Amino acid sequence: MAVVNRCSRAATAATTANATTAPTFAYLIRSLSPFSSSSSTFDPQNDLNNRNKPAVLGTLKRESKGRNVQWVFLGCPGVGKGTYASRLSNLLGVPHISTGDLVRDELASSGPLSSQLKEIVTQGKLVSDEIIIDLLSKRLEAGEAKGESGFILDGFPRTVRQAEILEGVTDIDLVINLKLREEALLAKCLGRRICSECGGNYNVACIDIKAENGRPGMYMAPLPPPPQCASKLITRPDDTEEVVKQRLRIYQAMTRPVEDFYRSRGKLLEFDLPGGIPESWPKLLCALNLEDREDKQSAAA
Ligand code: AMP
Repeated sequence: MAVVNRCSRAATAATTANATTAPTFAYLIRSLSPFSSSSSTFDPQNDLNNRNKPAVLGTLKRESKGRNVQWVFLGCPGVGKGTYASRLSNLLGVPHISTGDLVRDELASSGPLSSQLKEIVTQGKLVSDEIIIDLLSKRLEAGEAKGESGFILDGFPRTVRQAEILEGVTDIDLVINLKLREEALLAKCLGRRICSECGGNYNVACIDIKAENGRPGMYMAPLPPPPQCASKLITRPDDTEEVVKQRLRIYQAMTRPVEDFYRSRGKLLEFDLPGGIPESWPKLLCALNLEDREDKQSAAA
C-alpha cells in the first residue's frame, strides 16, 4: 500500500512537473527499482572495429546467459520490437518488459484506470508519463521480489521526458533502434494476431515488396500460429488502419526525438531489418556480437 501511495504522489507531481522537477520522479523509480547504475556488469570501452557502434558492444562476449543487461528497444509500431526483444530476453536470461503489455494487462484487469486507458489506447495516443511510470515501477518492484536482474525494455521510453527520467535513475547500456521500410509497417500491424490464451504473437501478412528504382525488394513471410492457437487468435483494437496511422504520426512527433537523445550519448545502435526473422535474427545477433547456439543447432539439424 505504501508503494502505491508513493507512486501516486509522484504521479501527481509528474502531471504538473517540468523536466527540472524530474528528480522527484527519479528518486521514486530508484527506490522501487533493483537496477541501480552500479549494477551494470558491462565495462564500456571504445572498440576500434565498431567505431559507429555503441562502445558497449565491443565488450560483449559470446557466453551471455545471466548478463546484467539493461537495454532498450526503440522503433515504430509494427517494426518487431516485441519479437526481437523477447528473443533476446530468452537468449540473455533477462526479463522482457513491454510497457504496451503492462497497459493491456491493466486494461484487462478492469481496475480503476481501465476505462481511461481504453480510450487513450484505442485512439492510438500515448498514456501519460505518470501512469506509465507507475505501471513500470510496479513491474520492476514485482521483478525485484522475484530476484530478477537486468531488463530489456520495449516501448519505454517513448518521450524525451521519459528518457530523461530513466537516465536519471539507471545506466542504460544500449538502445537498439529497429528500422523497417515504411511500406511494411502498416501491413505488419494490420496482419498482427495474438493468441488470446497464451499471448503468442503471430502475423498473417505476407510482405513482398518488389525491387524498384535501384531499391532492393524485401520479403517477409507470414508467421503462422501453431495449431493449438489457430482458433484463439484476436486482433489488437489499436491495430486498425486509422489508429496505426495515428500511432505512426505520434511516433514521429514524440518518440523520434528519443533516438537523438540516445544517439548524442553514444548508446544508439541503428539496425535496419533486412526482412523477416530468418534473415534478421542472425544479422541482429552479429551486430550485437552475440551467438544463438540453439538457433544454430536447430538450423543445422
Ligand atoms: P505498444 O504495445 O508498445 O504499441 O503500446 C500500446 C499502447 O500503450 C501505446 O499506443 C500507448 O497508448 C501505450 N503505451 C505503451 N508504452 C507507453 C509509453 N512508454 N508511454 C506512453 N504510452 C505508452
